[in-house]
Amino acid sequence: AAVLGLESSCDETAAAVLRADGTILAEAVLSQEQEHSPYGGVVPEIAARAHLEHLPRLVAQVMAKAGLGYGDLAGVAATSGPGLIGGLIVGATLGKGIALAHGLPFVAVNHLEAHALTATLPGIVEGAVRFPYLLLLLSGGHCQCVAVEGVGRYRRLGTTLDDAVGEAFDKAAKLLGLPWPGGPALERLARQGDPAKVPLPRPLLGRPGCDFSWSGLKTAVAHAVARGAATEQARADIAAGFQAAVAAVLADRAAHALAMVPEATAMVVAGGVAANGAVRAALSGAAAKRGLPLVAPPVRLCTDNAVMVAWAGIERLRLGPTDELGHAPRPRWPLEGMAA
Ligand code: ATP
Ligand code: MG
Ligand code: FE
Repeated sequence: AAVLGLESSCDETAAAVLRADGTILAEAVLSQEQEHSPYGGVVPEIAARAHLEHLPRLVAQVMAKAGLGYGDLAGVAATSGPGLIGGLIVGATLGKGIALAHGLPFVAVNHLEAHALTATLPGIVEGAVRFPYLLLLLSGGHCQCVAVEGVGRYRRLGTTLDDAVGEAFDKAAKLLGLPWPGGPALERLARQGDPAKVPLPRPLLGRPGCDFSWSGLKTAVAHAVARGAATEQARADIAAGFQAAVAAVLADRAAHALAMVPEATAMVVAGGVAANGAVRAALSGAAAKRGLPLVAPPVRLCTDNAVMVAWAGIERLRLGPTDELGHAPRPRWPLEGMAA
C-alpha cells in the first residue's frame, strides 16, 4: 500500500508517493522562486494560481513514476494548514477529489507536524531517531522549539516574538542588496566576511526560556548598512556578523530548550534555515554539550516538500481510520491542537 502526499501551503508545489514502510517511490517539487522574486517575497495570489497550474501535473508525474494507479493507494494526504489559504485550498481540494473519486481515506495534514516527523522517516538520517526529541523548526514562516513526544504529541517550548529566522535572513539579505530568497545568497557572501568586524546584537541571548526575537538584529543590520556598505568587503563583513549573531542566538536558545526536555534523545532541525552551515555548526555544538547528536535531514526534506506530507499521512493512518473530507483548510493551526 502507498500514500500520495500533496504540499501547497507556501511557495513550493510538491507531490510524492511513499510506501507505507516509508520507502519513497516518487517525489517532485517545483519552487516558485522565479514567480515571486520580482516582488521580493511570496505573493499569496500568485502562489495559489501557480499551485493550481502545476499541482495536477506533478501528481500525474509521481503516480506514473511510482507505477501506481489511484486504486492502488491506501490514502491521500494533503497539507491543510497552517499556510496561505489559497494554496491550501488548491492542494486540499485536489487531494479530497482524488480520495472521493477512488474511495480512499483523506488525511488533512498539519504542515508543522509533517516537518516535525520528517526525521523519523526510515533511512533518511543515520541511525533511527527515537521519541522524545527536540525539534527546532527554522523556516521562512516559523521559528519554534518543540518537544516531540510521539505522533500527535507536541509541546511548544518557545517561539518567535516577531519575525521567523528565515524571514530575518531574507530581510538582512535585502538590506545588503541580495536577491530574494536571501538566505543562501547571504551565506555565500558571509564566506568572504569577517564576523568580528561589525559587532551586532544577539537578541535574548542568555535569557531564560527559548523564545526568539530577530527584529532588533535586523534594525542593527540596517544601521550598519547605512554607516557603510559601499564595498563588497564591507557588505560581506556585515553578512558574516549577522550570520554569526543568528548562529550564536540559535545555539543559546537550543541549549535552553534541551534543558527543558531532559529525556530528549536528539536535537532535530527542520526548515530551510537548517541548510545554513554556520547554523548547523552552532547547533551541533549545543547538542554535543549534552552528549546528543544533531540530526539534520537532507536539505530537500528540510524545506517544503511532499515526502514529509505523505509520511505524516502514513503515521496518521496507522493510528486509525480517518475520513477528513469535511476538514476546512486552516491558515492558522498550531501543533498543540494535534492530539492523536
Ligand atoms: P514555511 O515557513 O511555511 O515552512 P518557507 O517556504 O518560508 O515555508 P522553507 O522553504 O522551509 O520555508 O525555507 C525557506 C527559508 O529558508 C527562506 O527564508 C530562506 O532564506 C531560508 N534559507 C534557505 N537556505 C538558507 C541558508 N543557506 N542560510 C540561511 N537561510 C536559508
Ligand atoms: Mg519555501
Ligand atoms: Fe514548511
